[in-house]
Amino acid sequence: MSKARVAIIGAGIVGASIARVLSRYENLEVHLIEMEVDVGWGVSKANTAILHAGYDDDPNLYPNRAKYCVRGNYLWRKWTKQLQIRASWNGSLVLSFSEEDEEELYNLLERGERNGVKGLRIIEKDEIQKLEKNASPSATLALWAPTAGQISPFEAVTALVENAVENGVILHLETKVLDIVEDGTRVTKLVTNNGEIEVDWVINATGLYADYIAELVGGSEFKITPRRGEYFLFDSTAEPKVSRILFPAPKPKSKGVVVTTTVDGNLMIGPNATDLPEEEKENKETTQEGLEEVWINASKLVKSLPSKSKVIKTFAGLRPEPTGGDFIIKPHDSLLGFINVAGMRSPGLTSAPAVAYEIPKMLLHLGARLVLKKNWNPTRKRIIRFSEVSNRRKNKLIAMNPLYGNIVCQCEMVTEAEVVEAIRRGARTIEGVKLRTRAGMGRCQGAFCRAKIAMILSRELKIKPWQVRVKGAGSEIGVGDLFSLLHE
Ligand SMILES: Cc1cc2nc3c(=O)[nH]c(=O)nc-3n(C[C@H](O)[C@H](O)[C@H](O)COP(=O)(O)OP(=O)(O)OC[C@H]3O[C@@H](n4cnc5c(N)ncnc54)[C@H](O)[C@@H]3O)c2cc1C
Repeated sequence: MSKARVAIIGAGIVGASIARVLSRYENLEVHLIEMEVDVGWGVSKANTAILHAGYDDDPNLYPNRAKYCVRGNYLWRKWTKQLQIRASWNGSLVLSFSEEDEEELYNLLERGERNGVKGLRIIEKDEIQKLEKNASPSATLALWAPTAGQISPFEAVTALVENAVENGVILHLETKVLDIVEDGTRVTKLVTNNGEIEVDWVINATGLYADYIAELVGGSEFKITPRRGEYFLFDSTAEPKVSRILFPAPKPKSKGVVVTTTVDGNLMIGPNATDLPEEEKENKETTQEGLEEVWINASKLVKSLPSKSKVIKTFAGLRPEPTGGDFIIKPHDSLLGFINVAGMRSPGLTSAPAVAYEIPKMLLHLGARLVLKKNWNPTRKRIIRFSEVSNRRKNKLIAMNPLYGNIVCQCEMVTEAEVVEAIRRGARTIEGVKLRTRAGMGRCQGAFCRAKIAMILSRELKIKPWQVRVKGAGSEIGVGDLFSLLHE
């Protein structure tokens, strides 16, 4: 059977979800193309990681956001189980502190019900305190959304890509799409820094760069501008934490600063919302004013925050804000074979699975033939976390593989076996190992384990230690064999 070639540009949560869904078809040859050295390093890496319930978006103003968020939240329940992605379905509380806020809660309730969100309720002070003992006692009412949850977005992207690759998707890393060739009617070829790829279909899932990619096929009617959000992340031992996701009443630009506990058990506060010029698509700097704004607003939601000395990291993410504000999920007006999945700002993480299922429908509508595989594998196993298993299991693991007996990262109790497994699954850099295993994510932020991880990467990848990269190209940890260079 001849196969139609589909290229998905961008291995963020959206491209990875599409890759998984398209990997179900026998007669598609799917290529997932990513310019970075790893998957999930774009917008999907730095965000609030909430699986929103779906009451925020007005279906009249933002029909795609309203529709796909609720459906995506539902689908993540199944996907997280199938792919062993950790999720906590702990629910969210939108707190009110004024009459104006209270009115907004009733608007959200009505909107959520229209969007089909289940279980929404306005609750009073007593119940707020029962659900979240660290919620501010000044909160007058709250909108309780039991279906909201949390995941680790990077873990989700890697799980989706591992599963897609297992089902035949071809992953191209460090491959930047530079141009798209067409024959007057349809797309035919991608030009990349790694050569050309013949294609029948192209899906543009490039996050902040979706407008640039759309311009390659005759200009686009939308622009993507970055809207920065800054965060504080606390040490996993920092108290008090929260057991629910706490929101203020939303503002027109964003859902406001959130207080939440990540699936890894770290309290996190943020983000604010600062619009940046279109060309600052890489500006992830944090600012003193921005962080102060986050701290002040987060403090209003809780009885207390941990001391600032417990902060282990501040960081920023960039929302890809599209012209018009809604997700742009549609084929090119005149050129066959090109589909935009652009402007995936929040709640894009939540919506990704639902958006992904739109693509086969669009392909069928545009004339593609799709045949389901008989042997598609819906499951994937996560890397065993030594720190999470019982002592009995720890002993068994060490007996089976002595590398489990070597703790590489003391803060997060990560073993050499886990680091080796992360490399086997695609980590090529210190950052890639860190994001897959948590080695380097603890209190010391890698000061203790970075050199050990570099040596393991060097051994496993069969490269010289100084060639080991922290992140992408140009981030090698050394300059070469200085001893030999000096004696040349
Ligand atoms: C501050 C903040 C908070 C958020 N909070 C939430 C939340 O709590 N819940 C929620 O649902 N959503 C949230 N979002 C939104 C969510 O993070 C995004 O919708 C989602 O991550 C977008 O994924 P993506 O795959 O479209 O983009 P990306 O993750 O950016 O993926 C696009 C990929 O394309 C690659 N690429 C770009 N150009 C090229 C090229 N020329 N060739 C090859 N590859 C290329 C990039 O390297 C990148 O990896 C938040 C976003 C931000 C920034």
